[in-house]
This record gives sequence, structure tokens and C-alpha cells, in this order.
Amino acid sequence: MIYSVCVRKNRELPGFVYVYTIKGGKGMSEVLKVEELFGSKVFTRATMKERLPKNVFKEVIKVMEEGGELTLETADVVAKAMKAWAVENGATHYTHWFQPLTGITAEKHDSFVTHPDEDGKMLMEFSGKELIKGEPDASSFPSGGLRATFEARGYTTWDITSPAFIKETATGPTLCIPTAFCSYKGEALDKKTPLLRSMEALSRQAVRIVHLFGNTEAKKVTPSVGAEQEYFLVDQKKALQREDIIFAGRTLFGAPAPKGQEMDDHYFGVIRERIGAFMHDVNIELWKLGVTSKTQHNEAAPAQHELAPIYESANVAVDHNQLVMETLKRVAGKHGLRCMLHEKPFAGINGSGKHNNWSITTDNGVNLLEPGQTPNENIQFLLVLACIMKAVDTHADLLRQSASNVGNDHRLGGYEAPPAIISIFLGEQLEDVVEQLVETGKADNLKEGGVLRTGVSTLPDFVKDATDRNRTSPFAFTGNKFEFRMVGSEDSIGSPNTTLNAIVAEAFCEAADRLEKAENFELAVHDLIKEYMTKHQRIIFNGNGYAKEWEEEAARRGLPNIPSMVEAVDALTTEKSIRLFEKFGIFTEAELRSRAEILYETYAKTINIEALTMVDMANKQIIPSVISFAGKLADTAASIQAMGADASVTAELLKTVTEKLTETKKAAEHLLKVEKTASDMERGKEQAFYYHDNVVTAMNALRKPADELEKIVDKKYWPFPTYADLLFEV
Ligand code: ADP
Ligand code: MG
Repeated sequence: MIYSVCVRKNRELPGFVYVYTIKGGKGMSEVLKVEELFGSKVFTRATMKERLPKNVFKEVIKVMEEGGELTLETADVVAKAMKAWAVENGATHYTHWFQPLTGITAEKHDSFVTHPDEDGKMLMEFSGKELIKGEPDASSFPSGGLRATFEARGYTTWDITSPAFIKETATGPTLCIPTAFCSYKGEALDKKTPLLRSMEALSRQAVRIVHLFGNTEAKKVTPSVGAEQEYFLVDQKKALQREDIIFAGRTLFGAPAPKGQEMDDHYFGVIRERIGAFMHDVNIELWKLGVTSKTQHNEAAPAQHELAPIYESANVAVDHNQLVMETLKRVAGKHGLRCMLHEKPFAGINGSGKHNNWSITTDNGVNLLEPGQTPNENIQFLLVLACIMKAVDTHADLLRQSASNVGNDHRLGGYEAPPAIISIFLGEQLEDVVEQLVETGKADNLKEGGVLRTGVSTLPDFVKDATDRNRTSPFAFTGNKFEFRMVGSEDSIGSPNTTLNAIVAEAFCEAADRLEKAENFELAVHDLIKEYMTKHQRIIFNGNGYAKEWEEEAARRGLPNIPSMVEAVDALTTEKSIRLFEKFGIFTEAELRSRAEILYETYAKTINIEALTMVDMANKQIIPSVISFAGKLADTAASIQAMGADASVTAELLKTVTEKLTETKKAAEHLLKVEKTASDMERGKEQAFYYHDNVVTAMNALRKPADELEKIVDKKYWPFPTYADLLFEV
């Protein structure tokens, strides 16, 4: 069965979309209305409107749009309607769905079951209090010292701006209520709370800017995010034969297959049947959850793919990206596949990232990043651009940090992903405008895109974009949005967006402080644009970000080059970072310090698992297999020699194999030794650095001879599926 799928925005009703598939059947094609499917498992505005009394609906919408709190009576009414809807959809349980600092989501299910009455009759119930507030035991979630283990209390509170939904898994349909997660003292223990705080901060400051330009009707500015998700799919049965995939989510050993991605034949290639069936199911599951799965294609590396939804409010986008990751994994299992979200599942071929497309729009529909036809004359746009240049240059270290995780260390700066140096790509046209402004204070000229002549009479000529694309930039302006490409594929997009919102809020605030006081607004805004652009022009780079020369050039410009996650953590607790986050009420200093602690701990624990997995695989699988092979070679050589024939090839191979075997054994012993030293150290920065400097090095030293052995040992003896088996036989 062939389906072609369409999702498009509904221009009349912003925030709603049309989704439909066209099903190719026998002969005639029949149109399936996915409009009915879309959002069918979401407690949408439309569902609320239908099921809530008018005044309650109004109150809910007011709180959603303007903030504030629902009264308990209102919450009770909402809870009742929500429960009725959920029960009609087969739900027996509900959960406060939250995002602790593990980077994934957490849920504890409660059934609607209540104490039976005297007749033994039970009523399914769900109160406003249960909707608004939960109290999970928080002691086993990372808190980075914010909370001692005995202070176990944590609270989840309903985030009314992200709709409730029903997740259908093997446990049965469960009503999921998106919530923020805080400690007893109100400190944020999750990714959502700071994100929501940052969105409010950005809105407040951006509103000041648009008011200055006469858009006084705007009351709110919302960041929109579209996250393109890359992933790998391998056969589940084969994946389960490898401990490294099971425990570390990536391969820790593996010689390259004879073919990699050099033919560029996978990128945008025809989607194979097995993968197509998987993608189709993923789309259906996501649409039911109100996630606008829009594009799907094969990516550069073999077995690599991508899915992108349509952009939406940052908060909902963060939640939806978690659902995308979860759905990819779950549906893969049903298809006998395993979805690998790790940033670098296989050495030697591309890793996976998550392009975070970000823009900011007023509640009366103005995208502040829309340059219009003549950006050189669009003063508001130029001011916003100048502020973003200032924000990114001032806080390049923070942005870099926000996109770092253990897996991304293999990717950033690895000549296939953005470099670890933050810079902005503006494209030819805008870069030229900035240059003119910096040099003369005016930008009278505008480079035009021109016409692209196809040279074929039957193909139309068309007007080119004013700017080509640049794949190598970590932070690229792409028409009416910025695309932050550093983010890791497995990571939550919570931190990058919190950081982006915060740094831009700060720049807007400083600009508004000055402009609001100015006697001559036009003159002041002109001066400010020139000043910011001149001061921060060094952050703009339109060239090849993968080139070695860029590293040298960036160093000359004084741009930070932070090569690893552990080295990036410090950015969180610098004076300028604390000042920024405290000023806008996004993080307290204590929260920042706790997050730094958690990052060091996460790094150490992750590397520790990887190291132990390698030792285990080496000692229990690779070394014994190679010994068997060596034994076979020795026996064979002896028999050949006994027959008086030439055994030199066998003897030579035996020599090489045993040499590399010795090397492997020694490297495994050394790795175990440094792992022991590392794990005995006190938790914290020093330990994380020890893992980075010594354990990772020892891991590489073990991988080398083992991978060399893989290339020469008889395949029958090799103890687990190879890169060729995993990447080309899906
Ligand atoms: P590509 O990056 O491959 O050119 P698109 O331009 O279609 O692809 O955009 C990729 C992602 O960017 C999608 O998730 C899309 O919804 C999102 N996007 C498009 N416009 C905006 C915008 N104004 N703000 C935020 N995200 C956007
Ligand atoms: Mg993109």
C-alpha cells in the first residue's frame, strides 16, 4: 500500500493544521481523512470548548494566554471533563508527565480508581487538585545537591500551556498531563520550568522593542521552534547481540564496512519498504498526539534518517520532541527495528544532530526575524539582528554549553557536524548590509538574488534566494529564523531554547532601556544598531566552518573554542551567566551550580558505563573468540607443516593475530585500572575531567587493536554483528 502524506498549516486558524494521506489502493485512490486522526488523542482547545462550560473555557484560555492560576473550582471542572474524555478513550490511569534532568521524561501512573462505597461500587475519579499538583518522591532524580536524599519531596505542577494527551502503550491508554517539576523549596529540578521562565522573560523584553516601533497592540511575543530529528535504524535482533548498543546506545567497537557514505547514495534516496512501513506508523502515532510530523527522508549515513515537524511554540515543541523520540523508539520495536538516537552510534560515518529552528513572533502575527523584501530598510529587523549578534557573541560559551552532552563530544568539531566554535551565518545579502552599516552607518544597497536560468525552454526560470545555504555553520540565518545546528540528537531541546531565549531577552532589555530614554528615537536606534554590529561583527562567519583555517581565524578573533562537554560546563557559573539568569528569574545561582554538578556526574557515569562495557566485551567476547581463531590457526599451521607444505601464510597470520591479541588484553587491563581510579574519585569536576582525559583515552587505546583484529579474523569467529551487518542489512 502506498500512502502519500500531506500536512499543511491552516492559514485561517493559526495553530491548527490539516493533515491527510492519500492511500493508493487497487486502481482507484481513496482519500483518507487524517484530519480526524490528527490530535484525536489530545485534549485540544476544540475538545475543551466542546466539553467545558463557556465561562470555564474562557478562564482556561485566559490563563493559557496571559498566565495566572486557575481557581480550584475551575480546575475541578476541567479535571472532570478531562477524565471523562480520557475514560471515553479507554484510559484507566493518569500521570503527571515531566522532564527531570536525566534528559528524558518521567511518569508515575495513578489509576482513576477510588475507594469503593459500602455496596462495593467504585467510581473513577480525578480532581482539580490531582490535575494541578502531584507529589512524586523526588529523591532518585538528579538534583545536583539542591536536595538531600532525605528531603524527598518534589512537586509536579500542571503546565497549562502544553496540552494533555493520551499515550497508548502496552500499559493501556494513559492520560498524560505535562508538568513542571520543582523541589520542596521551589527550585527547578527539570527542563521545563526554566524554559517557561525564559519564554516569559523574552516576551516581556521583546514586547518593549515592538512597542517602541509602534506595534503597541502586541501583548506577548512567543518563540517558535521546529526541531529536525535525525536517527539511525538497525535490525533489533542484531542490535541485541551487541552489549555496547544495549548499554551505551552506540557501538564502542567496530571496523568500518567496505562501504560508508562516500557514494552519497543514501541521502534523499528511495525509502526502503521496511523503513517506509515504520515511518508510516510513526506518522500516524505522532499525528494522533497532535505532533505535526511533516517531512521524512533518508540522511547522509547509511541507515540514517530524519523527521521534522512543523514549528510551534517553544514549550510545546520541547514536549513534542520528547514524544517524537519516544515514538521513534517504540514503533521501531514493533517493526523489529531499533532506533538509535545517540549522537555518534557508528565511528567513521556521520552522527546525528537536531537542528533547532527558532524564531520569535508577536501575538498579532509579526515574526521579528522576517527581513521583508528590503532588509536594509527594515529598522526593526536590523535592531533585532544587532541584538542577536550581541547576544550570541556575548554568550557564545553558554550557547555552546547548552548543546553539549556526552554523545555530542564525538560530533562537534568532527568535520561532519558544526564546529565547536559558535559563529553566525547571515548569508551574502545580510552580511553585506551589516558591512555597509558598520562602515558608513547606512545600508543603501541591497544585493539581489537575481534570476536562475535553467537553460531548458520547458523549465521555468526562477528568482533565486538572495543567499545560498551554508551547512557548516552552527547558527545560521535561514530566511526568517535562526537554525541552531549544534544540538545533539538524543538531547532535550529544553536547554538550548532556554539559553537562546535568555540571551536574546538580555540584549533586548539593554536596547529597550536605552531606546525608551532616547530623545530622538530614530537617531538613537540608528546609533545602537551601528554600535552593536560593529562591536559584535566578529561573530559573523560565512565561510567553511569545517576548515582548519577557521579555527585559527576564530582564535585571532577571540572567539571561544570549547572542544568538549566537561570544558563547557564552566560557562554556566561564570559571573556573566549568573547575572543573566538571575536578572530574568530563569535560574538562581544555586540552580546553576546544581546543574553543573549534574552534568559532571552524568559525564562520569556515562563514560564509566562505556568503559565497563568495553572491558566486558573485550574479555568475554573478543579475546575468547580470537583465542579460538588463533588455536585454529596454530592447529592448521601444524597440520600443513606436517604434510610438508608451506605454512608461512597461516603462521604469519597467527603471529599478527596473537600480537594484536596481546595488545588488546593489555589495553583492556589498563582501561579497567583507570576506570577503577576514576570511579573511586569523589564526584565532581575533577572526576569528570579524569574520565575525559584518561578513561576516554584508554577506551580509544582498546578499540584500536580490537578493530584491527576484526578486519583479519575469520567472520565465523567474530562474536557480534559488524558495521556491515548493522548498516547495510536493515
Ligand atoms: P530545511 O532546514 O531543511 O530548509 P525547512 O525550512 O522546511 O527545512 O525547516 C525545517 C524546520 O524549520 C521545520 O521544523 C520547520 O517547521 C521549521 N521552521 C520553518 N519556519 C520556521 C520559523 N519561522 N520558526 C521556527 N521554525 C521554523
Ligand atoms: Mg534544516
